[in-house]
Amino acid sequence: GKERSLNFIEEIVENDLKNNRHGGRILTRFPPEPNGYLHIGHAKSICLNFGLAKRYGGGTNLRFDDTNPVTEDTEYVDSIKNDVKWLGFDWVNEYYASDYFDQLYAYAIKLIKDGYAYVDDSTSEEMAALKGTPTVPGKPSPYRDRSVEENLELFEGMAAGKYPEGSRVLRAKIDLNSSNMLMRDPIMYRIKFAHHHRTGDKWKVYPMYDFAHGQSDSIEEITHSICTLEFVAHRELYDWFIEKLGIFPSKQYEFARLNMTYTVMSKRKLLQLVNEKFVSSWDDPRMPTISGMRRRGYTPKAIRDFAERIGIQKRDNLIDVSLLEFFVREDLNRISTRVMAVFEPLKVVITNWPEGKVEVCKLENNPEDPESGHREVNFGKEIFIEASDFMEEPPAKYFRLKPGGMVRLKGAFIIQCDEVVKDAEGKITELRCSYIENSKSGEDVSGLKVKGVIHWVNAQEAAEAEVRLYDRLFKVENPAAEEGDFKDFINENSLQVVKALVEPSLKKATLEDKYQFIRNGYFVLDPDSGEKLIFNKTVGLKDSWKP
Ligand code: ATP
Ligand code: MG
Ligand code: MG
Repeated sequence: GKERSLNFIEEIVENDLKNNRHGGRILTRFPPEPNGYLHIGHAKSICLNFGLAKRYGGGTNLRFDDTNPVTEDTEYVDSIKNDVKWLGFDWVNEYYASDYFDQLYAYAIKLIKDGYAYVDDSTSEEMAALKGTPTVPGKPSPYRDRSVEENLELFEGMAAGKYPEGSRVLRAKIDLNSSNMLMRDPIMYRIKFAHHHRTGDKWKVYPMYDFAHGQSDSIEEITHSICTLEFVAHRELYDWFIEKLGIFPSKQYEFARLNMTYTVMSKRKLLQLVNEKFVSSWDDPRMPTISGMRRRGYTPKAIRDFAERIGIQKRDNLIDVSLLEFFVREDLNRISTRVMAVFEPLKVVITNWPEGKVEVCKLENNPEDPESGHREVNFGKEIFIEASDFMEEPPAKYFRLKPGGMVRLKGAFIIQCDEVVKDAEGKITELRCSYIENSKSGEDVSGLKVKGVIHWVNAQEAAEAEVRLYDRLFKVENPAAEEGDFKDFINENSLQVVKALVEPSLKKATLEDKYQFIRNGYFVLDPDSGEKLIFNKTVGLKDSWKP
């Protein structure tokens, strides 16, 4: 690719490597919570973490941040692994934060013994009332000065399941006057009698994000822990725990999360779309999930190129989805097989074509790829063209088919329209045309100059297909920023299903094949396809993105 200047995280890494911090080693991690499918925002984080480590000769751990037993599921774990691999990345280690529960518990005991943590019996309302505001200092809980012995006994009792949920928490003892509210004795552990997808019923206490994340980074000796901007305020606490525990000094760096136009990007909202049936599933082609984009026909390269192009920022921003579509189109133009599909069939009978005669036409598979070769398409007496490629009363400079006019059928012959057949209501039902004998593509000696070229399918051989055309899932650019429920802004016309006739080669399409339906856009087979062919429109041919 083109050389670009370093982004701020690359600058930090290069500086660390130069100063031999951690012995010149870089290890990053991608830490998804297995509570949903990955979306394009995660793809940005994946490309950043894996890309950075790769660029500087290091590696990346895949760590499932599974400290919240309630919302997590192995279905999500499997989909996440599949999506990361599909994007083209390999992790060094697959870890689970829940594997560290024993170690985290031991860290908590150490902090209690060192006087840095205490058990608080206050209700959450009482705690909130004492916390103060950024300008009003907090007040100590009546339990703040419990003895180490009492704290140990109570925390062990919490872990043994002696006390009900919500009755007590373990808090870090830090600074009630801090201007950073997260430093005002944050909660480290809460009681939860929930079944965990990996540890089962072993634990009755679960660590909070802030007590799990940094320590997990440290246990794995992550050098650069990259997260999104919401965690800026958490960094002080991240460093505090590591310092008080005296463990490996991982460092946290923050970048702006990706927001994209005409969609939402939070797993909670995406889950609502699935549960409330606004879409068919997590991998509905309209979803901004990686699995949805894969089903839609997006390629990993397009997503990686997009992530590289948008780069990383320190301020939140909204990226135009047409930029992503630009990269999708660019990749598909390079790799897709050109085929013919007719969406609004209009029958054309070639009157001077001998009954039963078949002529093999060779069509180029992909002009962008000389290796891709040709395929054979049979020309015959009855074909279908797009109804929109014929006009009875055309404007000047109309180069498609018109009464008495000529057009070239892609890869085949020039035809002339001799007669327009209509039904009783005056609707055109058929065109009767004649073909020019010596005008076959590649061996045309007719001497005729014909400007228009249109696509067609052979009526004898064409296959029927359902084609799913997609529009934006939302009617507004930034549904999450609108007042009221984001679901009020759903575009109810985001899916349109049409019937098409496609050339017979498409009966052999696989889910991996990428197609350009000539003049109609890029398409891919849908997994719902079976006896009946079903194609998804990936993206149109025209670029609407303005740099
Ligand atoms: P969501 O709000 O969608 O549920 P999350 O941050 O809770 O996202 P995680 O599974 O915790 O989801 O995310 C894993 C990693 O992906 C985190 O490091 C997170 O910062 C990053 N990430 C999540 N959403 C985005 C986004 N929109 N842009 C960039 N990175 C993201
Ligand atoms: Mg998270
Ligand atoms: Mg979340």
